[in-house]
Amino acid sequence: MLEQKTLHEKLTELTSNLWWSWQPGLNEIFRAIDQPLWSGNAHNPVILLEAYPPEKLEARARELGLHSRINYAYRRWHEYMSSHDTWGATRAGILNHHPVAYFSAEFGMHESMPIYSGGLGILSGDHLKSASDLDIPLVGVGLLYGEGYFSQHLDANGWQQESYKTMHPDKLPVKAAVGKDCQPVVISVETRTGKIYARVWEVNVGRVRLFLLDTNIPNNTDEDRRLTARLYGGDTRIRIRQEIMLGIGGARALAAIGIQPSVIHMNEGHSAFAPLEIIRERIQEDGLSFDAALRETAASCCFTTHTPVEAGHDRFDAGLINEHVGPLGDQLGLSHDALMGLGRVNPQNPSESFCMTVLAFKLSRKANAVSSLHGVVSRRMWSSLWPWQSEEEIPIGHITNGVHVPTWLATQMRVLYDRVLPVDWHIHTGEPGVWAGFEKATSGELWETHQSLKNQLIGFTRRRLETQLRRNNASEEQIAEVANVLDPRALLIGFARRFAPYKRTDLIMREFELLAQIVNDSDRPVQFIFAGKSHPRDDNGKAILQRVWRATQEGPLKGKVIFLEDYDINLARHLVQGVDVWLNNPRRPLEASGTSGQKVVLNGVLNLSILDGWWAEAYDGHNGFAIGTGRSHVNDAIQDERDWRSLIDVLRNQVIPMYYERDADDLPQQWIRRIKRSVRTLGWRFNSDRMVMDYVNQCYVPAAGGLSSQIPVL
Ligand SMILES: *Cc1c(COP(=O)(O)O)cnc(C)c1O
Repeated sequence: MLEQKTLHEKLTELTSNLWWSWQPGLNEIFRAIDQPLWSGNAHNPVILLEAYPPEKLEARARELGLHSRINYAYRRWHEYMSSHDTWGATRAGILNHHPVAYFSAEFGMHESMPIYSGGLGILSGDHLKSASDLDIPLVGVGLLYGEGYFSQHLDANGWQQESYKTMHPDKLPVKAAVGKDCQPVVISVETRTGKIYARVWEVNVGRVRLFLLDTNIPNNTDEDRRLTARLYGGDTRIRIRQEIMLGIGGARALAAIGIQPSVIHMNEGHSAFAPLEIIRERIQEDGLSFDAALRETAASCCFTTHTPVEAGHDRFDAGLINEHVGPLGDQLGLSHDALMGLGRVNPQNPSESFCMTVLAFKLSRKANAVSSLHGVVSRRMWSSLWPWQSEEEIPIGHITNGVHVPTWLATQMRVLYDRVLPVDWHIHTGEPGVWAGFEKATSGELWETHQSLKNQLIGFTRRRLETQLRRNNASEEQIAEVANVLDPRALLIGFARRFAPYKRTDLIMREFELLAQIVNDSDRPVQFIFAGKSHPRDDNGKAILQRVWRATQEGPLKGKVIFLEDYDINLARHLVQGVDVWLNNPRRPLEASGTSGQKVVLNGVLNLSILDGWWAEAYDGHNGFAIGTGRSHVNDAIQDERDWRSLIDVLRNQVIPMYYERDADDLPQQWIRRIKRSVRTLGWRFNSDRMVMDYVNQCYVPAAGGLSSQIPVL
């Protein structure tokens, strides 16, 4: 029966589900069909299949001998979707009829859907993918940003330029979500100044469904039609309007679709209005008092806080709250002061603004930070919410972040894993025993695999640089130089992340002469690739970016320190798979977890990082390198100086000598031992299957059963 479908039908069906995106085989098939079209359109299969109507696709597939590979992928997909012999089936049965609703302002699933800006979004995407792989009944709720997050280009002076491209829903793997009446769902949220409407799109992420609200419909004023145009693009008024759509609108969308979640998981405070809408439903449907409805709703709500950085916690003034949440407050029988009190540490303090994080804590009985150290920091940061408890008793536990293995693992590395790990390793990635087999890989095959990934990255970097130069009308002479950029035999260090001040991208450039000396050592040279976006309205970030960029353009670092534009999932994938070392030097303890360093572990790359976030609990002295001793100084300037000294010291006395110490076969045996230890000790812990299993055991199942157990604090 399956055979009767055309190739085009099969691929259309396959790519209507983002499952395809974490199948290396399918990525290779699309690349083979039309490499330029594929790379030129953010790896978007909808666009590719439009350009290859059935007959043309059939001919191309015959030419390349793709039929059996496509049929195989298609069969595997059906097997995946119909198999329920899974971890979730045995461990999360209580959620079967009433799934978890996972709310997030961003979802980073694939480069063809740029509705994420950074780590928070990637984490949400990886959470959905692991929930699908483990077969956890879960739906996602978010916003469809029609113009997404921006693409980054640098002008000829290295100043960041942002560009936005409108994504048409018919070019994305989305369909209109339908309600119980089989009609497309449209919901509304009333404000004091009018109603805002949204339609709802459905995206399939394996077994999981993600619902995205979109205000770009004719019911709205022109201004509100643009409300969901951009992620983090507006002022606080746009922000609160986006957040009432995400929280209140999202909860209404689920009700309209006929989904009654048993658990609400708020991934960061942006969605903290959602429980208020659930409370309204309980009052209206079950006749509960506000207090009783709040108690019952909070028992089924989980909240994950994501940053100790103050600016990362949304605050709104009383006017904005009254305009946007006032009507819901009226229905809940709350006075303006009582409503404001829900978002204040001290409800009676009229000078306190309304904080979404405070609201989220008050409306959930389970709260967690995203690493062990971040747990300590969060309990201290929010202790005033529980003034009667000592710091250790503050009910904020931690579940450390992880990454989705199939999304971030290089194909060549996967081949190696397939050979040395147990056959079904990929469905047991959360178990330590499974990873022990990595010791069996021989030094030679491991190093060869790594070296081929590094060569791939160097080729990619040269192509990217050429494109960047052509855009800025560089001379042919300048373009020709790109062929000599980066030496595959020299140590290559990667650094890519948002240009937030605490991430200190330019720390290593503190003493330029010293860096130039390290880079240009003729026996043991060192090279760097930098990437990262600055927030569009952060001119400080842009100035730091410009400084880093300028250093790469001429003088002693040229050709050896590279800046690549437009950091996104695609660029991240290349970087985390192909560098030798991944550098991370945040100002401790501001990196709540960090996940890019977890991606490199899977690919045989070593971390060189401040003992902050996940690395503070991951580093064991032999599975990577540590900068500093895990202390913080009250004075930033002193801390920066101290960390810089340690970074240079570790680089010169540990990293560089170990990398260049070779045996008779030119293999760095000590380095390879560290890689093996890194994969073996970290792979099983810092992946999103383990993370989602922790959420199921510690949050979802107890919350669905109305049990009030806390996430363990330590
Ligand atoms: C993984 C990832 C991040 C988050 O990395 P951090 O180490 O937490 O900064 C941000 N952006 C992209 C594109 C990523 O892939």
